[in-house]
This record gives sequence, structure tokens and C-alpha cells, in this order.
Amino acid sequence: MASYEEARVNPTEQAVDELKEIADIVVDTHRSTADQVVVRVAARLGLYGKSHDRLVDVLVGGQYGSEGKGQIAAYLAPEYDVLVRVGGPNAGHTVYEEPVPFTFHQLPSGSRRNSAAQIVLGPGTVLSVERVVREIATCEVSADRLSIDPQAMIIEELDRSSEIQLVDSIGSTGQGVGAATVRKILRTGAEPAVRLAKDEARLKDYLRETRVVLDDAFARDRRILLEGTQGSGLSLHHGNYPFVTSRDTTVSGCLAEAGVAPSRVRRTLLVCRTYPIRVESPSGGDSGPLTNEITLRAVAKRSRIPLAELKKTERTSTTGRKRRIAEFDWSLLRRAVSLNGPTDVVLTFADYLGIENRRARRFEQLSEETIQFVEEIERVAVAPVSLIATRFNFRSIIDRRKW
Ligand code: IMP
Ligand code: MG
Repeated sequence: MASYEEARVNPTEQAVDELKEIADIVVDTHRSTADQVVVRVAARLGLYGKSHDRLVDVLVGGQYGSEGKGQIAAYLAPEYDVLVRVGGPNAGHTVYEEPVPFTFHQLPSGSRRNSAAQIVLGPGTVLSVERVVREIATCEVSADRLSIDPQAMIIEELDRSSEIQLVDSIGSTGQGVGAATVRKILRTGAEPAVRLAKDEARLKDYLRETRVVLDDAFARDRRILLEGTQGSGLSLHHGNYPFVTSRDTTVSGCLAEAGVAPSRVRRTLLVCRTYPIRVESPSGGDSGPLTNEITLRAVAKRSRIPLAELKKTERTSTTGRKRRIAEFDWSLLRRAVSLNGPTDVVLTFADYLGIENRRARRFEQLSEETIQFVEEIERVAVAPVSLIATRFNFRSIIDRRKW
């Protein structure tokens, strides 16, 4: 039936007012739109459940990125029904695969390890259409599996070229994420005009509103993993401005970008490396403060990991540049804890404390120094170190979770 006027012809419908006295719910359809009627009736039928169940776990970095979030997100992914990623293609999340590791720039890091999970790119995501299309093809992601929010922002070539100055000054990855975000904020004042995911033909099969997808997942008691990018030390608001990225990298920032309510969060995992890194400073520029910087050679000497191996690992995954490395920064950890309130800390690169940690399969097999280090992190974080990566391999994650 096309209109209510047509429905009115039906005798039952004509007498509908008489049902008012005995009806469970009375909805005046003249005063509510069709979707409002659905909301009111669904609520009356109890379809929205009884509480906001905590079904979302959030994983973020605690330093300057490259904490190994991708590998941890992939390790956890099989436990979830929905994988959500926020941020943009400036972040590269690398996951162990044989013979070569796989680096994600747009899709959640667990997309390959858990090929049954739904994948969601939220409305705060910034997209390189080329990259996302390529990742969809490489990972053979079907259209019914991936939802891209219609309001995700699209990066244009001009966004990338306008970041050349940033590449030379602070060591930006130059992916155009910040410039595209600026244009989204400028709205109709943006030049070139803003294009969102809904305006891009190549993405049309994947367009689904994140809120609807997640509400449906919540209604079915599905578990959701929200994967953040970069680290708290690079947060636009909370990092050492201007040596920061173009978004708020904290748990709250990630929730806002995905559109997940704080009351939905169950665990918050803060991923930290034993030795934080930053991208190397561009010649004539500065990638920002890094307390107690040391050389890779020093890390090699202490850990007994061959220098050549460290050099190979410590390259940025988006631009392939060298990294600066430093002693573990306890103040930085404390800042990250204040900002993110983690329920769990994840410690990565435990082998950098001593290559013998690679042989450890259980916590007590870690070196004495490492165990003390973990205990100290737990005191500063007021949270357990639940996962410890002793090398880049799924077998080498010591899982101490009680959940
Ligand atoms: P942009 O976000 O590409 O503009 O880069 C700003 C700063 O954040 C630079 O120091 C980048 O190297 C750093 N950065 C951005 N994304 C990541 C990441 O995923 N891992 C590590 N550093 C990052
Ligand atoms: Mg990275």
C-alpha cells in the first residue's frame, strides 16, 4: 500500500480508534514517521534488550605507534564476531603470516585470521579508495562481510600532495589523512569539495551505516573488537603537539570515530613496546620528543638479537623509513594509563629485553629481569599485563588473561 489514505479504506483500519482502549501501545501515526513507529513498537516489544551489554573490547597503542597492535588484534580476532577499525591509511598494522607478513592499512588486522567475522569501517574512518579496494581484493572480502560507513571521509590526491611540508618537517607519512580530515571539518567550505564513502562508486556495495550494523550485533550478543591506530603519544590533543598525528588516538577518540557508546566497553587493552619508537627525523626536520633515545646497536648488544635483524624489523610499515628507538618511558606509560584507563596492558617486543625470552612459552620462563619489568608495569598501570609477545609469531604470545 502506498499511503495511509489507501489503508483507511479498509474497514478494520477505519475502526482502529476503537482498539485504543485495549491496545498495548497506541502510536499516533500522524505524529510519528514510519521509522519512529518502528522504534516505538520495537521498544514496546522489548527488542532493544534490557541493558547496554558490554560487548566491545578496545585495543589502542600506548606510545608513538608501531607497538605491534596489528599482531595482537589478529591474535585476538578469532574470539570476536565483528572487527572494527578506525583511523586512516597512515597506520600500517602488520600481522604474522608465512612466508611474508601482511600489512593492513585500512581493514582490521584480524580480517584474514578470522575470515568469518564481520568487518566494519566506522564513520570517522579516513579512506584511501585505492588502498581499501586493493585490500578488499587481496583479502577476498565479500560485499556482505564488509560494511563501510557512508560518512567515512575520502582522501583526494590533493590531500596527499598538500602534506609534503609535513613529511619534511615532522616526518608525517604523507598519506593525506590530516588534510582530508581538515576538509571534512570545513564542510561546504572545503576545496576540493568533500567526498564521502557514499559518493564513491567503487564502494557502493559496502555502504552500511555503522550504527545499524553494530546495533544489530548488540541485539544478537555478538562480541566486537575495536582496533585503534597509532599511540596515545601521537594523539592530536594529548601528544606533544605538533609532533602528533591528525586524530585523537585514545580509547575515547576511537569510540567517537566508530560511534560506540562508552557503556558498551568491556576490556580496554593498552599495547606497549619494551622500547618505544618514533619515525626517524626527516633531514632538517624533527619527528618529536623521545626521552632517553638510544641506538639500535645498544638494543642489539643488550638483547643479543643480531643488529641486522633489528634494522630489518625497525622500519616503518607505511613508508619504510628507519625508526628512532628509546628506553622504556615510565612517564609516557603513566600518561597513556591516565588517558585510556586500560583494564589490561599488552607488552610487545619482550625479546628486546633478552633474546632468551623467545624461548619462553609461559610467564615464569621469562628472564628474571623481564618478570620484574612486567611487575613494575602492572604497578604503574594499575592493571595486569595480560599478554606478552616474545617475538613476532602467534606461538610466541604468552596469554595470561583471566577473561
Ligand atoms: P601523519 O599522521 O602521517 O601526519 O604522521 C604524523 C606523525 O605520526 C609522524 O611522526 C608519523 O610517523 C606518525 N605516525 C602516523 N601513523 C603512525 C603509525 O601508524 N605508526 C607509527 N607512527 C605513525
Ligand atoms: Mg605501524
